[in-house]
Amino acid sequence: MERAELIQALKDRFESDAFLGAASLPVFGEPEPVMHRVPMADDEIERRRVALQVIDDSEVKGCTQCGLAETRTKTAFGVGAPNARIMFVGEAPGHDEDVQGEPFVGKAGQLLTKMIEAGMGLKRADVYICNILKCRPPNNRNPAPDEVLACRNYLWRQIEIVQPEVIIALGAPAAQTLLNTREGIGRLRSEWHDFYPSGTTGVGDPIPLMPTYHPAYLLRSPDEKNKAWADLKLVMSRLGLPLPTR
Ligand code: SF4
Repeated sequence: MERAELIQALKDRFESDAFLGAASLPVFGEPEPVMHRVPMADDEIERRRVALQVIDDSEVKGCTQCGLAETRTKTAFGVGAPNARIMFVGEAPGHDEDVQGEPFVGKAGQLLTKMIEAGMGLKRADVYICNILKCRPPNNRNPAPDEVLACRNYLWRQIEIVQPEVIIALGAPAAQTLLNTREGIGRLRSEWHDFYPSGTTGVGDPIPLMPTYHPAYLLRSPDEKNKAWADLKLVMSRLGLPLPTR
């Protein structure tokens, strides 16, 4: 576009904004507003919230599709914004989650909250947090394949409703289930992968997925926190979230 045309186009744009009653004209160099959640109409947010609530109330809370129904205290379905840009997926509830009926509320959950709030500059309520399994495996053992098979449909539906821009898989069981691989978390982390909501690789639009260490592992191995932070910075960069200057 020639310089004169460019000036005219900008003039037209400014006049149009003034005509439409725009509060202020754009200022060049002004930073883009940081988007913590996907902007959408309140009724769409409410539709999603209700859809998630219905699955939890009418299916998950009374679910007996695997043996964990016999040993659980409460199911822990998921928590957070129905229009979240980021969905965190862990493996399964632990003791505190089993008692309270909410994912990531114990010590590992408190660390996750710190990673989200102090690290990423978001609120816990801005993201969506859930697990592959909705019931606690006894003694916090890893999920068994038949339990994952029985439960993962709930997670697929949570992803379908929330439609996150990015999924962060916390720990090997979550990453391996979502990516249908047996690769270890040390090899999977720090790189972007494609998660296919259809469950079939190559079908539909993939959601970018970043695997990283589970906060429970980071509590046991604090030297690895830098690596998890590096993974979160890749996510922030992709979503245009400002990186802390420290
Ligand atoms: S772990 Fe999942 S499939 Fe098994 S009983 Fe709980 S909700 Fe149902």
